[in-house]
Amino acid sequence: MHTPTTRASGAHIEFYQKTGKIHPRTTAGRYNSLRRAMVWFSQLLFYGGAWLSWDGRQAFLFDIAERKFYLFGLVLWPQDALLAAVLLIIAATALFLVTAVAGRLFCGFACPQTVYTSIFRWVEARVEGDHIARLRLDEAPVSARKLRLKAAKHGAWLAIAAWTGITFVGYFTPIRELLWNLGPGDLGPWEGFWVFFYGAFTYLQAGFAREMVCLHMCPYSRFQGVMFDADTRTISYDARRGEPRGRRGAAKLAAATGGDAANPIARAGGDCVDCTLCVQVCPTGIDIRDGLQYQCINCGLCADACDDVMTRIGSSPGLIRMASESELAAPALPPASARARAWRSPRALTYVAGLVVFSVLGASMLVNRTPLIVDVLRDRSALLREGTDGNVENAYTLKLMNLLERPREFRVAVEGPAGVHIAGRDTFAVDGGSVLPVPITVASSAAAGLNGRQEIRFRITAVDEPALAVTEASSFLLP
Ligand code: SF4
Ligand code: SF4
Repeated sequence: MHTPTTRASGAHIEFYQKTGKIHPRTTAGRYNSLRRAMVWFSQLLFYGGAWLSWDGRQAFLFDIAERKFYLFGLVLWPQDALLAAVLLIIAATALFLVTAVAGRLFCGFACPQTVYTSIFRWVEARVEGDHIARLRLDEAPVSARKLRLKAAKHGAWLAIAAWTGITFVGYFTPIRELLWNLGPGDLGPWEGFWVFFYGAFTYLQAGFAREMVCLHMCPYSRFQGVMFDADTRTISYDARRGEPRGRRGAAKLAAATGGDAANPIARAGGDCVDCTLCVQVCPTGIDIRDGLQYQCINCGLCADACDDVMTRIGSSPGLIRMASESELAAPALPPASARARAWRSPRALTYVAGLVVFSVLGASMLVNRTPLIVDVLRDRSALLREGTDGNVENAYTLKLMNLLERPREFRVAVEGPAGVHIAGRDTFAVDGGSVLPVPITVASSAAAGLNGRQEIRFRITAVDEPALAVTEASSFLLP
């Protein structure tokens, strides 16, 4: 790989530090179990959610053609963009709160990049073997076995990526129709493009780019540091307890790492036996003992590996653990108090306040959302018509949007100066979840003696629910 370099003031600077392909060692422990649970949970939700039905249609569907978002019984229209914006703000604030309290928990456990990389690595380990076998296979010359294993791995990756692409597009086009159209090759150009694009994106990002996305592409890893403070709890190495590091004895070290008992013995004062297992299991290839680093995704695998080592050598676990800066500086602070401090920090309290405010706002918007929206358009081609009897008429088009998923009847009335009334039909049936443009004629009799521009209001009422009424202002023009 080409590494861009420059020379400034005689110094040799590398813009990009080369790293080989990372094959992390597998480990077990509570963080790993939690990660697995999150992978299962998120993927059951993602792959299964597209197949859920509600009232005879897909439960989650962003119908781009109809410009509607179906969420079980709730149907959001483009007019609900403000509500969607509030929901996005709530999600972002919740993410900021989690980051302020527990560091990059989202990155390590819920980010799609992490989740799909975990799935692809799991497949790789099933096909090619453990991290040593994978490293050996990568370095081995081309052979029938190598080609067979690589083909099996890439075949499985491509199948997962293709299904991911289909599922993703299945949230925008009903997935059953999408699958049906895949067979006969009737896929529309946009659907075909997005299935291919999202499938290829998953294959490349999770199979090849992996931790490089976290290290070099993800903007969130760069700015989330501003949400940290001394009480933010992240996966940390307890240097006070671990240093000075060093090997404790060949037998203990061998028992801890499964390594070679003939290693040199160097008794050291700290608990860290320098076995490097925490580095070997790290998916981003860093050494947590170097302190907080932006490359750390807070996955906790190093803590799992180190807990195992500590247990084997008879020390208490937690040399690497979730801890804040203030907790590490004051070892007497119990974890429960440190957790409470993290939640009580001014930054976390600000995010909690934001979360409460926006949740209340979102809930009230949802509760007060009327299932009827009306747009009034004046007929621009003829502002007014005068009849031979002296009556004056204005023509309008009312767009009645029935947001409920069942047909309803609406009655249109006009409010304004005496003598102004609807001429002709005033009751209209609108199908569920649809928009009906209706022509309305408003008339004023000569006897009313009106002239110039008069303010009027259209009042549209649901026939089956008189309390549901919408009023829209407009104007009535006379000579
Ligand atoms: S796993 Fe624990 S004991 Fe081993 S090197 Fe890392 S911190 Fe030290
Ligand atoms: S140092 Fe590596 S293994 Fe440890 S939490 Fe960070 S990313 Fe995970």
